[in-house]
Amino acid sequence: MSGDTIKSITSALIVGGGIGGMAAAISLARRGVAVTLIDLDPDWRVYGAGITITGPTLRAYRHLGLIDRIKAEGAVTNASRVRLFDGTVLRVLEEPEIEEGLPATGGIMRPVLHRIMQDAVRGENIAVRLGLTVTALDTIGDAADVAFSDGTTGRFDLVIGADSVFSAVRDLAFPHMGPALPTGQGCWRISIRKPPEQDMGEFYFGAAAPCGITICGADAVYLFLLTEHVERERFMNDDELFTEMKAHLAPFGGNAGWIRDNMTRADWINYRPLAAVTQPKPWYNGRVVLLGDAVHATTPHLASGAGMAVESGIVLAEELARADTVEAGLLGYQERRFDRCKDVVDSSVAIGQLQLAHGRPDQIAGLIEGALMRLNQPY
Ligand SMILES: Cc1cc2nc3c(=O)[nH]c(=O)nc-3n(C[C@H](O)[C@H](O)[C@H](O)COP(=O)(O)OP(=O)(O)OC[C@H]3O[C@@H](n4cnc5c(N)ncnc54)[C@H](O)[C@@H]3O)c2cc1C
Repeated sequence: MSGDTIKSITSALIVGGGIGGMAAAISLARRGVAVTLIDLDPDWRVYGAGITITGPTLRAYRHLGLIDRIKAEGAVTNASRVRLFDGTVLRVLEEPEIEEGLPATGGIMRPVLHRIMQDAVRGENIAVRLGLTVTALDTIGDAADVAFSDGTTGRFDLVIGADSVFSAVRDLAFPHMGPALPTGQGCWRISIRKPPEQDMGEFYFGAAAPCGITICGADAVYLFLLTEHVERERFMNDDELFTEMKAHLAPFGGNAGWIRDNMTRADWINYRPLAAVTQPKPWYNGRVVLLGDAVHATTPHLASGAGMAVESGIVLAEELARADTVEAGLLGYQERRFDRCKDVVDSSVAIGQLQLAHGRPDQIAGLIEGALMRLNQPY
């Protein structure tokens, strides 16, 4: 992506070097903005899960110019298989191509995706400072004055809070917003070698806990399983995680059954309670704006949170380039993103509620398909 130069700002600070923060950094730097990116993690790592990248997410990565590496280092496909929990195949879904030559869906390991995006950030001459956060923000006037956690200060034309669901920027500058709300479900994930029979992504319906498998590379998959949240599970040690996840997988056949029978304590296993929120407008305050999970945190039901964060990074740069003033650019960004991101959050939460209420598989599939069709529309 390149496009028109942004004239209303010359410098930007991005707080949070995750998926959304890096997408914004690349997009702004390519439009002539001097970008500083900070991240709290001194090693700028990401945890070892796989991630599903749907068609719209792949489209956003194509617009960022990163699709070829994602295809080469992840896995893409044009079909998914739907099974009953015991392994019986119900149907193979041929998924639509939303842009010519674009794969319909795919997956990649998060650390691999992180490295691809980090390489793009480094290629854009962006200043990266690690082990750092913001401790104070002054939003009044034509610039934002920032105090950093290492005692230094800085002044930027724009500060972008891309510091995820517990956003420090949101706490400092957006008193009308609140925390994400628990949905009552939790997500179990395991990253493991590819089952020998696994040739496309799969969804398993009909059990108390819905489950799916995404291929993430030549010999890597991750399996996710959604259950009702039980508070004690938040605090399990590695041994308990292994035992409990294996027990949840007891009824499953097919490749999910293979994963249950072949999983080891050395595989990456994680449990996370789910929470979601679309924060109320405005999404900007003076020269500070929010992006990604900091302002539209969702659950994994549509596998679209990362896609929304990447799109938001691209759209923020496009709208700033289009507008004559910073305020008009930030308003344009907010208005282009609000309904689409809210749709993802609302639909994801609704799917989870239906799962908790043991809704019929065709009702749940209908909600998922409807939301994914809407997401296929241009952003
Ligand atoms: C269980 C689960 C499964 C998911 N699966 C999928 C999926 O398959 N597909 C999909 O598209 N989406 C998925 N998502 C959603 C997706 O992970 C997020 O929407 C996406 O990562 C949001 O990007 P982000 O840039 O806002 O935040 P992140 O990617 O989380 O990045 C935030 C960054 O900010 C840094 N940071 C945090 N606090 C501070 C601070 N105070 N100061 C400085 N830096 C800070 C962090 O170190 C991190 O690098 C899933 C979410 C969950 C919970």
